[in-house]
Amino acid sequence: MKKYIAAIDQGTTSSRVIIFDNLGGMVSSHSKEFKQYFPKPGYVLHDANEIWESVKICFVKALKKAELTPDDITAIGITNQRETTVMWDKETSEPIYKAIVWQSSQTQAISNELIEKGYQDLFKKKTGLLINPYFSGTKIKWFFDNIKEANDLAKENRLAFGTIDSWLIWKLTNGKNHITDYSNASRTLIYNIHELKWDKELLEILNIPENILPDVVSSSGISAYTSKEVIGSKIPISGIAGDQQAALFGQTCFNQGDAKNTYGTGCFLLMNTGETPKLSENGLLTTIAWSIKDEVEYAIEGSIFVAGSAVQWLRDGLNIIEKAAESETLAKKTKSNLGVYFVPAFVGLGTPYWVEEARGSFFGITRGVTKNHIARATLEAIAYQTKDVINLMERETKIELKTLKVDGGASQNNFLMQFQSDILNNIIQRPMISETTALGACYLAGIGIGIWTKDDLVNMWKIDQEFKPSMKDDERKTLYRNWQRALRACVEFADKENY
Ligand code: ADP
Repeated sequence: MKKYIAAIDQGTTSSRVIIFDNLGGMVSSHSKEFKQYFPKPGYVLHDANEIWESVKICFVKALKKAELTPDDITAIGITNQRETTVMWDKETSEPIYKAIVWQSSQTQAISNELIEKGYQDLFKKKTGLLINPYFSGTKIKWFFDNIKEANDLAKENRLAFGTIDSWLIWKLTNGKNHITDYSNASRTLIYNIHELKWDKELLEILNIPENILPDVVSSSGISAYTSKEVIGSKIPISGIAGDQQAALFGQTCFNQGDAKNTYGTGCFLLMNTGETPKLSENGLLTTIAWSIKDEVEYAIEGSIFVAGSAVQWLRDGLNIIEKAAESETLAKKTKSNLGVYFVPAFVGLGTPYWVEEARGSFFGITRGVTKNHIARATLEAIAYQTKDVINLMERETKIELKTLKVDGGASQNNFLMQFQSDILNNIIQRPMISETTALGACYLAGIGIGIWTKDDLVNMWKIDQEFKPSMKDDERKTLYRNWQRALRACVEFADKENY
């Protein structure tokens, strides 16, 4: 008998439900975009009810496409945009304001104040994160500072805080369960990732009452059941994880040193560091990867601001390609980069350089340079930046990269993947199922109901293509040294005085 798992992948711009079979194969999927609200500069908000409606529609339509009914679903896995903060009234299930999205910088002032008071180290040590508007903590404080109802309801013990996973589970269970998993809790800035509990000292600093917080449950294991009245069947919810952690799981990065890189607009790199959290001095984040039956594993995370968006710029800014994939065709027309290096610091340099004022720069242009070299330098830059972050991860964790699994739009670029493998001198594996986030939620849910073990998943996970390093050491070293020279020159050009 077939067993089906529904993975709910609630993202920043759209929601998606994918139905998987008992071999981890995709059966059907449906996605739906929802509205983004920008009421003031820097604000990014979502309507939590709209998100819930979009998830419900996706669930119904994905089932319909697969010709299944809710009773055919044996488990649900949830993965979600991380850090986005919802506050609702537990009695009415109505959000008291829109959800504040991770990207929203409306809590910059709150963050600055905390940093000025000297709290950076304390928060970093306890949560693995940096004080930054991204994370939920300052967003929760914003609610109490700005929305009177938050204070009134908290006093009456009626207020609930949740990240999107919590909110969806609240709705799926018809208000029965107020929970989140360890991976999502670890993105809130109020969760102690060492002691595995909401941190009283941090809550006090942010003035957050404890009675609004969800219970923290395992990422894998039955933590709740959906309500029959809500989605037509009582289904166990047995997998929950934030999107990047779910992708790490979906890429079967189960061992220390296994890493994944998502090549999207920017890059998101996560490396499994095993049972001990590794703290960074250079801006990497420490996070809970997942917990299976309360055994917690950690990851270290780094991001790159500009990756696929540099390819978009070739298309929309320079008009030298019509489609992102053409960057590969152009790059392959050249035998070398002809000495051209591009530092795509459109919005400054992030990990591990941290130079906000830096701007994109090309180096080494001679008369023979064509758009082919420009495209090539752009793709190479994505690989160099990835190497910089991985080098830092290896240095700070003292853990060597084992394999790099890849996903995201630009991972379809074979030139980029081969160059990445060459410059890292590591094997790179690209999976058949590129929806690794949803796949991770499905895997967690499957383990959670006991139909799979991690070993089963390793066997089920299929490679689309493997890229092996074939570059000579000398060439690798020369190229990377030149990239670092380009970086230094770019930093030198940064206008620190007039910024
Ligand atoms: P996001 O989730 O951040 O929107 P996606 O994973 O959908 O990103 O990937 C889209 C990004 O990948 C775009 O920035 C696009 O320019 C880039 N991209 C897509 N296909 C290719 C390709 N074949 N080669 C290089 N870049 C690509």
